[in-house]
Amino acid sequence: MKILLANPRGFCAGVYMAINVVDELLAVCPGEPIYVYHEIVHNRHVVERFRQQGVQFIEAIEEVPTGSIVVFSAHGVSPLVRAQARARNLLAIDATCPLVTKVHAEAIRFAKRGWQILLVGHREHQEVVGTRGEAPESIQVVESPADIPHLHIKDPSKLIYLTQTTLSLDDAALVIRALKQAFPEIKEPPTSDICYATTNRQTAVRAIAPRAQLVLVVGSKNSSNSVRLTEIAQNDGTQARLIDDASELQAAWFDGVETLLLTAGASAPEDLVHAVIAELITRFGGEVEQVDVFDERVEFGLPASLRNLLRARGRETEGRRITLDRERDTAEFLAANNIPHHTVALTIGQSK
Ligand code: SF4
Repeated sequence: MKILLANPRGFCAGVYMAINVVDELLAVCPGEPIYVYHEIVHNRHVVERFRQQGVQFIEAIEEVPTGSIVVFSAHGVSPLVRAQARARNLLAIDATCPLVTKVHAEAIRFAKRGWQILLVGHREHQEVVGTRGEAPESIQVVESPADIPHLHIKDPSKLIYLTQTTLSLDDAALVIRALKQAFPEIKEPPTSDICYATTNRQTAVRAIAPRAQLVLVVGSKNSSNSVRLTEIAQNDGTQARLIDDASELQAAWFDGVETLLLTAGASAPEDLVHAVIAELITRFGGEVEQVDVFDERVEFGLPASLRNLLRARGRETEGRRITLDRERDTAEFLAANNIPHHTVALTIGQSK
């Protein structure tokens, strides 16, 4: 079997930063309880690993004892949650992805100017709940064109749409087109809110999937961007399966499959992808073709709240970056396991 390995796939800079925040806290605060508000990232394995290291995941700030450390997850939180944490005198470490923070900042800026904001996204998603909380009086959530007749618009000339960062580009385009039809004066966000990682992973699947009979997406069911990758392949006519790990592979999926596309959502660790490759090669033999579609070099620094804590505990933070080197990790894995492989450059873009 030929395994087409999509590049980029898996961890984005925001998820990698959030995971590193919790790892740093575990290292610098041994024995101290660490609480994380909601799942740090939407991946079952990541959450389970931290649980086993003693991290406690909570759904309400009242669950955190006064004065403790609480981490806000990559999806961000509303100002109400921040205020609750302050009221309990918690030491809040903010692991919100800077690209989510950007959408919050846009919402605050336009709400202050008296604009109404239509937030395109999934109403119950943590990110949308957090962004909406920045200006609940000014923001209405739009999940689909069917929501448009129910919107309450005061002045169509002071109307802007923003979006959740992890939407399907196609779904978002459909809703945005309908919004523009209904409200021709609606303003666009200053730059696209759908983040580089979502865009790149979706573009890669769309570019490569036509060569495959099956697409496997490694990711959890509650990971918005992983689900979107599966849908994109299916909508383009290629069978697709979303799996948490190699244990979920089913023999019946592979009947007649000679070429398979393997990718992973932005919250899925690379070791899970490696385990899937190892399992497929063991079962079917074959080779790996790494298909480079985007050259991704995005990285984020440590959040200021974590830097302050590290300094307070005598740790050096100067110049610290959080760098992910997926290519090197994958090359090492393939070589160590003697898996035949080569790389095809289909590069159509670059994210720095
Ligand atoms: S998917 Fe995008 S917005 Fe979400 S954490 Fe990753 S980079 Fe940030």
